[in-house]
Amino acid sequence: MMSYRDAAAALWGEAGMYAHDGYACFRAEHFAELPEQLPIVIGITAYGRCLGLTRAGWEHGPRITLASNLFRAGRGHVDDTLLHEMLHAWLHETGQDTGHDSEAWYAAVRRLSPAVLGHELDARRGAGRRSVRVPNPNAGQEGQPATVVRKVAVTEMVQHSDVARWPSPFRPTDHDFGAPINCPTY
Ligand SMILES: [Zn+2]
Repeated sequence: MMSYRDAAAALWGEAGMYAHDGYACFRAEHFAELPEQLPIVIGITAYGRCLGLTRAGWEHGPRITLASNLFRAGRGHVDDTLLHEMLHAWLHETGQDTGHDSEAWYAAVRRLSPAVLGHELDARRGAGRRSVRVPNPNAGQEGQPATVVRKVAVTEMVQHSDVARWPSPFRPTDHDFGAPINCPTY
């Protein structure tokens, strides 16, 4: 039987092989419960701000999609997106909640960050926002209280919007994402 890596090499050349080699490497390092190989699709993703996509909830098991423009941006972008998508797949395979806002996602981010980012990440659900009481802009109108409760960002805390896109938002601005890889889009 042909491996998914062989198929990906025929479809996307070096980019396809790089994705599968990355999968094997990250599986060995972090995600032992994942299958030896998964189908990885490389293409122009349908969602502008989504760089990868893990389709877990269908009968054929998880499938990872990577945006082709990640490859030309540098291999580190492929690595980070692959890690993110593999985490979704791993949560699914281990029977945990796969959502970005789940305790399972946060726990995995805390577990993996020292190895992936090179430092601890104290990511806690809900820690990035707290409730404060502020003057009600509609005070004085009928039935309106003088103050209302608002959620505000606690800027020094790790923000959920970043945890939801882990690990790339936590790379330093001068992080070297490495050399580009040629990837045919059609
Ligand atoms: Zn995600």
